[in-house]
Amino acid sequence: MSEKVRCLIIGSGPAGYTAAIYASRANLSPVLYEGLQPGGQLTTTNEVENFPGYPQGITGPELMEDLKKQAERFGADIRFGMVTATDLSVAPYKVTVDGETVIEAETLIISTGATAKYLGLPDEQKYAGSGVSACATCDGFFYRKRKVAVVGGGDTACEEATYLAGLADKVFLIVRKSFLRASKIMQERVLSNPKIEVLFEHETIGLTGNMVVEGADLVKRRGQADEEKVHIEIDGFFLAIGHKPNSDVFKPWIETDEVGYIKTIPGTPRTNIPGVFAAGDVADPHYRQAITAAGSGCQAAIEAERYLSEKGVS
Ligand code: NDP
Repeated sequence: MSEKVRCLIIGSGPAGYTAAIYASRANLSPVLYEGLQPGGQLTTTNEVENFPGYPQGITGPELMEDLKKQAERFGADIRFGMVTATDLSVAPYKVTVDGETVIEAETLIISTGATAKYLGLPDEQKYAGSGVSACATCDGFFYRKRKVAVVGGGDTACEEATYLAGLADKVFLIVRKSFLRASKIMQERVLSNPKIEVLFEHETIGLTGNMVVEGADLVKRRGQADEEKVHIEIDGFFLAIGHKPNSDVFKPWIETDEVGYIKTIPGTPRTNIPGVFAAGDVADPHYRQAITAAGSGCQAAIEAERYLSEKGVS
């Protein structure tokens, strides 16, 4: 089965839905495929307090439902399906969904997001939304004057630990090696902050608590002769061990950095292929916020509209 569309949007986070709102209002009749997690990462966040326009805050799922309805109101065709293959060698670009439906798209907006990495402990699932988070900017506010832990030794972990230290009373930074991988300036910020205690050579083996996180069980120098069990009391447990951008299926054609983030021309959502744009976290290792994703989704739709009118595709 094959179908021709002027604008195909892959991914249903703030970037994808915003692109769909703009593209449908520009009469591009966009088709959007939602993917495995309709609504994206925000659907795993309880309370969103930093998306402009909601003075009382809004839950992540509600915000995404509103964005979806807004896109549908203008005629966006929103479908469920996973992209399984792509051929972006020549326009119209061919995108295979669920191994059977081939969409031929004049323009393509990739907004497939990124997935935060977790340690893989069953307790991370158990306390999801009840003390476990992978986004300090999103959830840090709930831990004012509390104790939290951040896992990781890179720039994100140091940045999140420093951010949380501005809110919480105490921050443990749990680092599996004997050194931080982060840039020197970030390390200095962490090491000079009296609220942050760095636990080098510690690994988390479990979380404790009745309904919500109340503590973490760690092992110091695991596997060594002087291995030691350590328990810390915390109210929040933040993962900052990296993200994986969901770009694999486009990689044969689209340029990415070494981690997999899609490369765009700075200040634009343009990729190395004309008519193919990237928006949101799949192309953003730095900000990763719902509002920045929405902004880039808007840019991508405007670019798609201009590209089509320059090509004379009606
Ligand atoms: P990184 O890959 O740089 O760091 C991940 C960290 O998590 C490492 O310390 C790693 O440990 C640790 N880690 C990974 N897996 C586990 C695990 N299973 N258990 C315990 N620890 C684990 O990711 P970041 O998200 O920090 O950064 C990604 C990119 O974005 C980098 O290039 C970074 O420089 C950049 N960035 C820049 C910022 C800025 O300039 N302001 C801010 C944030 C990010 P180990 O060291 O042992 O491998």
